[in-house]
Amino acid sequence: MIRIGPAGIPLSCKGRTNKDGLIYTRSLGLNTMEVQFVRGLHVMDEDDAEELGRLAKEYDVELHVHAPYYTNLAGDEANIEMSFDKIMSAAMLANLMGAKVIAVHPGYYGELSKKEAMERVVANVRELRDMFKSEGFSVKLGIETMGKQKVFGSIDEVVEVCRRVNDVVPVLDFGHIHARGNGSLKTKEDFNEIFQKVAGLGRDAYLLHVTGVLYRNGNEYHHLPIKKGDMKIEPLLEVILENNYNVSLISESPILEHDAVYTQIVMDRIMDKLHSRHRPDDEEDEEISEPREKLEYEIEGEKHQAAKKKQAKKIAAEKKVSRKRVKEETEPEKEE
Ligand SMILES: [Zn+2]
Repeated sequence: MIRIGPAGIPLSCKGRTNKDGLIYTRSLGLNTMEVQFVRGLHVMDEDDAEELGRLAKEYDVELHVHAPYYTNLAGDEANIEMSFDKIMSAAMLANLMGAKVIAVHPGYYGELSKKEAMERVVANVRELRDMFKSEGFSVKLGIETMGKQKVFGSIDEVVEVCRRVNDVVPVLDFGHIHARGNGSLKTKEDFNEIFQKVAGLGRDAYLLHVTGVLYRNGNEYHHLPIKKGDMKIEPLLEVILENNYNVSLISESPILEHDAVYTQIVMDRIMDKLHSRHRPDDEEDEEISEPREKLEYEIEGEKHQAAKKKQAKKIAAEKKVSRKRVKEETEPEKEE
């Protein structure tokens, strides 16, 4: 299953609560949302969280949570205590709303060597994981890949933390990976490599962040709309569809839901392409010329397509209106 949605309340949503945001997200034909506690937890109390969880079930919108930005699991004792407090409070609300993953920024190397930072982060992540367990949380602690050289969280570091601490999951922020690698994600092979790195962790679903990104010398400066950045989303989506990965794609673009809808449109286009390559008329030719493996994913693509069509029909009417508006706002200029 592929779910797509915004990081937080859609910009064009009139109501400014997470509940408004969730319903609006659904009306755009999107089906996941990452609730943002990035600047604090004041936006929600326990009752709100439970109510949001109830709505999420009703509307079939999968929830995730982003913990407050300023946490440092490689810091000194005061840093750690502050970080634990923030993460545990956010996790409590995330758990109440039935969120799948809470994304956490792991921290800074500071004066530590990379190896020392790794040991400290692993020890603290392990302690947090134990706290999640003793609280009976079902939400998973997610460690995000980070986009600056001085920040802990390269893809390899995130994989190592998740490998060493059971039950902790990677959050693949592709904008960050691309920026940190100074533009490293260009081809399908580049994206494939990232999925290969996490494959050994044995997860059956991944939380992904996507956005355009402005970077220099391996450091992220700020987010851009997907089309304004140099990381193409097509090869990523092709890799996801061809491998039938179970993912939730969260748009962190400055044009939040517009880029979520754009991602959905591009994905539909790719699925159509996979589908049309396997029309009955062409079948005979294809069986001779195409290798066996390729046919298999095309069949998967079709199944996917059928499921999606069914789902799309259900919400087509409301979707049509909002989507058209979003598309007009997003794509004033003609696509090349
Ligand atoms: Zn983040």
